[in-house]
Amino acid sequence: MKAFYLESIKQFSKKDISIPSPNAGEVLVKVKNVGICGSDVHYYEYGKIGNFVIEKPLILGHEAAGDVVAVGSEVKNLKVGDRVAMEPGIPCGKCKFCKSGRYNLCPDIKFWATPPVDGTFTEYVTHPADFCFKLPSDVSYEEGAMFEPLAVGLWATEKANLKPENSVAILGVGTIGMMTLKSVLAVGITDVTVFDVSDFKLDMAKQFGAKIVNSKDPSIFKNYSDAFDVVFETAGNSITTSNTVNLVSRGGTIILVGLPSKDENILNTNLLNSKEGVIKTVFRYANMYPRALQLVSSGKIQLKPLITKHFDFDQLPEAFDYIVKNNDKVIKVMMNF
Ligand SMILES: [Zn+2]
Ligand SMILES: [Zn+2]
Repeated sequence: MKAFYLESIKQFSKKDISIPSPNAGEVLVKVKNVGICGSDVHYYEYGKIGNFVIEKPLILGHEAAGDVVAVGSEVKNLKVGDRVAMEPGIPCGKCKFCKSGRYNLCPDIKFWATPPVDGTFTEYVTHPADFCFKLPSDVSYEEGAMFEPLAVGLWATEKANLKPENSVAILGVGTIGMMTLKSVLAVGITDVTVFDVSDFKLDMAKQFGAKIVNSKDPSIFKNYSDAFDVVFETAGNSITTSNTVNLVSRGGTIILVGLPSKDENILNTNLLNSKEGVIKTVFRYANMYPRALQLVSSGKIQLKPLITKHFDFDQLPEAFDYIVKNNDKVIKVMMNF
């Protein structure tokens, strides 16, 4: 089968490797769609994310859906022919975090496309059956592939304990910001303001029901001091991150979803303290795929408008190049297999 390896910065190679076989608890899945994630693009451009460094060629991709084509001897929940979305992190199942349900914090988790674990830009993958979610006929493969970023938005929303009357800000509407917006709207919040520097992205957020502010000139944030009960930061940008404390109301909550690339203290903790503000952080998600499945299948959340471009699997290098060059008008780029 074909697989694309990231060899070094901006350098892919296409290789022929053997099709893996599933062990007892696993299924073999023929991949149908994979979304390109911001993290994939970051590895492509910089060869690392924080402490995760690509030291040997790595298969990227972790937002995947496909067809079950073989099942291991102990698999009971799936059969050949089932269409599935695959949750990309495989926790150990034994540590205290796993046992308490916080398996996203498992120190031994194996997460696709996080060095040294290969991902899904390949024709077949094996995966534990209990991290595969059967798609009903009304959910497409590409929607199933997008459960992954949706799970992040749902988890951020879960952390916020929102009440219907809350005013909400979302800083940044790339894929994760859009998924947060959709998750927040799905729990009945009506007062949502999004900030971004791309008019393309802001226009899309407006169509989904958000109020929009172009924050190209960051001094605009001054007009929104103390304005929001809950502030989600999804841009991973030091300007927006530092502005969360200004924007949040007294007693309000900040949810940090994005990761600023520089690890510096950019939060005004004195101001935060005077507001008795709460900061929560989000690292991936836990137990959100069933929720994603329900919300998408019921039509409460529509994901297809977020796909701004498709590429065929063979065009993977072109797809990454396209994203880097068109960042201000890309939400989700979807690979077709
Ligand atoms: Zn992702
Ligand atoms: Zn564990």
